[in-house]
Amino acid sequence: MLIRFENVTKRFGSFIAVDNVSLDIAVGEFFSLLGPSGCGKTTLLRMLAGLETPSAGRILIDGVDMAGVPPNRRPVNMVFQSYAVFPHMTVADNVAYGLKIDRVPRAERDSRVAEALALVKLDDFAHRRPDQLSGGQRQRVALARALVKRPKVLLLDEPLSALDAKLRDAMRGELAAIQREVGVTFVMVTHDQDEALAMASRCALMNRGTLQQVASPGDLYEFPANRFVADFIGTINLFEATLAVDETDHAIVRTPALDAPVYLGHGVTGATGAQVWVGIRPEKITMTPADAPRPAGPAAMPHANRTPGTIMTSAYLGAVTLYDIHTSGGTLIKVTAPNGTRSASPALPAGTQVWLHWEPDAPVMLLA
Ligand code: ATP
Repeated sequence: MLIRFENVTKRFGSFIAVDNVSLDIAVGEFFSLLGPSGCGKTTLLRMLAGLETPSAGRILIDGVDMAGVPPNRRPVNMVFQSYAVFPHMTVADNVAYGLKIDRVPRAERDSRVAEALALVKLDDFAHRRPDQLSGGQRQRVALARALVKRPKVLLLDEPLSALDAKLRDAMRGELAAIQREVGVTFVMVTHDQDEALAMASRCALMNRGTLQQVASPGDLYEFPANRFVADFIGTINLFEATLAVDETDHAIVRTPALDAPVYLGHGVTGATGAQVWVGIRPEKITMTPADAPRPAGPAAMPHANRTPGTIMTSAYLGAVTLYDIHTSGGTLIKVTAPNGTRSASPALPAGTQVWLHWEPDAPVMLLA
């Protein structure tokens, strides 16, 4: 294990910014710390960098306890949000700066700078000054400057937030590709879930100083550990419900929000009668016109997992159309329908009566 947080807590006065976090990060991971503003993710990163000291717990890098090790003696390098580069130096001099400070001999310095600039595709810009570069290119200078020192860990604090939306999208792919190429462990802080899910191999989602779930992007989305995770990652329809049946191969949940019970194709671990949340992602619900044959529910419970509704609004989003559907029980449900074929009128009009239905593996059940 390259990085280990052991029961790390950080207090500012009586305020607990990071609350008993234990977390392992392996060599070569692109790891993301994700969560809403104020959740403690930057504080966790700053403790790893040595810019803050834990109030309790230990941080180990490569098995070495970092307590008392100053930032410049840790095998980490940080790329900041504002991608500060020296304006009066050329790109090459900016990248070479840290190596000069470390008294790396000239020849080695030159070859390492050339290598780092090639990596971030700035070989042709070595003699430009930062004010002659775009925002994305300046960000790549900052990245090259950090990577040229060959840290074991590169820490990135909201690295793309200063870029405009289009550039940010392009840089996501590039940053992930650079990480794969150099194989250096990246730990990135972001509040932008799309950014984390697109780039990271694993994410830690935090809330109010505590870890909520550590998992791959796919697992965070498909198998959220609790209501906070389900709600934070992507869009989900969440209903307060009661666990009515819990067997090894199925479970049944009843919610006042829907006319029909929700049938899950697997057992859950909860006491019968427990108050739970049941969640269904908009793309996992199928919509069929009300005048089509009534969709059949699961064989074991044909009237489950379906509800009639009325389209209230639709938003055409290109690849999909997002519908708000009012059920007869008075609940608003979000459903996305793929626009798989070209059509002049891809959205069904408001007022259309529909059936909503879903497979037994579509819902997630979360303990309240
Ligand atoms: P953001 O996305 O807004 O940067 P964050 O999740 O990175 O948020 P942190 O910067 O880690 O959050 O801060 C966590 C909490 O700790 C916040 O409530 C913040 O106000 C508080 N905090 C951070 N640094 C200090 C400090 N030096 N003194 C007092 N409180 C602090």
